[in-house]
Amino acid sequence: MTQASEVAVAMDWGGTWIRVGVLDRDGKILWQDRVGHARGTGKDELLGLAEGLLREAIDWCGSRTVMGVGIAIAGPVDSETGTLYQPPNLYVLDGVSLKSLWETSLGYPVLVGNDANLAALGEFYLGAGREAAKAGTPPRTLVYLTISTGIGGGVIERGEMFLGAHGLAAEIGHMCIDASDSAPECQCGARGCLESMASGTAIPSITKERIARGDFPASSLATESDTLTSATVLQAAGRGDPLAVSVLDGVVFALSVGLTNVLHLYNPDLVVLGGGVTLGLVELDMLPRIGEMIKGRAMSEFHKEFRLVASHLGDDPGMVGAATLVWQNAQAGG
Ligand SMILES: [Zn+2]
Repeated sequence: MTQASEVAVAMDWGGTWIRVGVLDRDGKILWQDRVGHARGTGKDELLGLAEGLLREAIDWCGSRTVMGVGIAIAGPVDSETGTLYQPPNLYVLDGVSLKSLWETSLGYPVLVGNDANLAALGEFYLGAGREAAKAGTPPRTLVYLTISTGIGGGVIERGEMFLGAHGLAAEIGHMCIDASDSAPECQCGARGCLESMASGTAIPSITKERIARGDFPASSLATESDTLTSATVLQAAGRGDPLAVSVLDGVVFALSVGLTNVLHLYNPDLVVLGGGVTLGLVELDMLPRIGEMIKGRAMSEFHKEFRLVASHLGDDPGMVGAATLVWQNAQAGG
């Protein structure tokens, strides 16, 4: 059997969609499908949907050699047992070990990880990290931040995920940026978390609050208060709308403070930003500004030796990362 015929089956399981793909060693998606699930779907039905999709993928593989099944899931997960802990968007799966469940039913090695941690792993080996390596500067420590509905993160230290004692490390979205009583409330119950100040949920919410307060009454956004999204706010900033520019300034400030803290914690040489909000920031050419603001706060010259880039894996970082876990396991003889 040649390496060329070896494939990984990978799943990215979020709060709304279950996506499954078959990937080659290069991270290329050879086949994929997805299924939506409504909030309130029961545990057995949900697990049945997911397993059905995996079986479809395995059937598609035909004579190719399936090296394992990698699962990226939105929520805290024990990397050794594959047990989920109170995943906020998939709560019925609390305490379920997808690893033992599917290793028994499917007969392949099953590796499970948190989606943001795995996105970081995918970026290291097959995304921004690979691009940097091609350019002669392979990363040693990579920090990945996804800025979308929420903010998640992952840290890769010399090719390995930094997981923490319970697999809950790198919750960068819940780093405190503003400890004051007036800071915006976060989903986690605290105030002033990075997620409550710079996420795709925070951007329209902060804008609406400022419209209600009467800030910049001439802003074109004042008449669209009910339909605002992070994309419409960022687009308005691109047109020079003063309220949107002011909100964007706050987002850029929060991200640069948060990333400076990250820099001081992990000393990364590559910082990768992904998620829908990042696309908007790239369009406005904000990454160089964020990079400069971080460097302005960094405590040493060595901390300033990092590159800040956008994700290279587009919509699929979790799936590519889950496949990477399969290749790592195969290499380790698992
Ligand atoms: Zn929080």
